Amino acid sequence: KKEPKRTLTPNEQDKLSGDMRELYDRLLPSQESEDRRARLIEKLDRILNEEWPDSDIHVNVFGSSGNLLSSTDSDVDICITTPLKKLESMHSLAALLDKNGMEKVVCRAAAKVPIVKCWDPELELAMDLNVNNPLALQNTRMIRTYVQLDDRVRPLAKIIKYWTKRRILNDAAFGGTISSYTWICMIISFLQRREPPILPSLQKMDGHRRKSESGETSSFADDVESLKGSGAANKESLGELLFQFFRHYGYEFEYSKHVVSIREGRLVLRKEKGWDPTDYGDKESHNRLCVEEPFTTVRNLGNSADYYAWHGIHLEIRRAFELLEDGLQLERCCEQYEFP
Ligand code: ATP
Ligand code: MG
Repeated sequence: KKEPKRTLTPNEQDKLSGDMRELYDRLLPSQESEDRRARLIEKLDRILNEEWPDSDIHVNVFGSSGNLLSSTDSDVDICITTPLKKLESMHSLAALLDKNGMEKVVCRAAAKVPIVKCWDPELELAMDLNVNNPLALQNTRMIRTYVQLDDRVRPLAKIIKYWTKRRILNDAAFGGTISSYTWICMIISFLQRREPPILPSLQKMDGHRRKSESGETSSFADDVESLKGSGAANKESLGELLFQFFRHYGYEFEYSKHVVSIREGRLVLRKEKGWDPTDYGDKESHNRLCVEEPFTTVRNLGNSADYYAWHGIHLEIRRAFELLEDGLQLERCCEQYEFP
């Protein structure tokens, strides 16, 4: 088989970047959908605080509604913070939502992160709610900071997320694939490892930290104003970056040796993390995706895809690359996957 093409010509880059800009404009959530999201938060705040007054209940958004990577049809991820312990069991929360007209209320109290899922028929939004999960708020804030550092991150990440949705590659819970969050970590890590880098490691970087209202210093560099533009020495176009993203994870990245780590901002060896394939004792673990959760570093976000699922995703990455290599076919690349 022929060598995968190394790079795009300037003309090809212009064409692909232009097609990406056009697609990106269509993917941005409408003002109307942003307004509905904001109204949902106000509504939940009112429902909860009327039911349990003086319980210091706060309704926070996380996930794509908080990291600048949502689309009109994304569901809303909500984290309720409160000292009221009985809310953590999730059942009283589910009952309250049901009483207030929410539909399809499902309570997953026994999940790793217990959640309630429901649908608001008035605002036409689906939501996932959890209680007191500060990790999710923290990693969402860090993703948002990365997205704000360079103007190329948001369009690139939104287009890759769109591709993963259309090819059905982003459902960790049911599809046995990997979550949007895992894909986002792969994108950020890729941008940290361009030459020169487009993004730094915010967790490794000294200074540039702000203090929160409660006086705590952030665990990662979060002062966007002073950090913006640090990747400007890299002049790669959007089109070139999309092409190189698929090339990198399709052909260059050595899954049997390497770990994606945005905390380190460089390739980490599976051996140094103790995630060496031999430690698992099976041949199948050799070609698996390893992505370190940036705050809970013992967690491998790639775990949700088993060997067979990962193999399928890897083939999809190569398919995307080949369609761009052969005539910059962005539309076909993102064509809806149809089950045979
Ligand atoms: P989408 O628009 O597809 O819903 P998303 O940005 O909301 O994308 P999800 O995969 O739904 O991404 O994850 C939502 C949030 O949940 C993430 O931003 C992250 O804060 C948190 N999260 C998800 N999976 C994990 C995990 N394995 N460990 C820690 N936090 C996680
Ligand atoms: Mg989400």
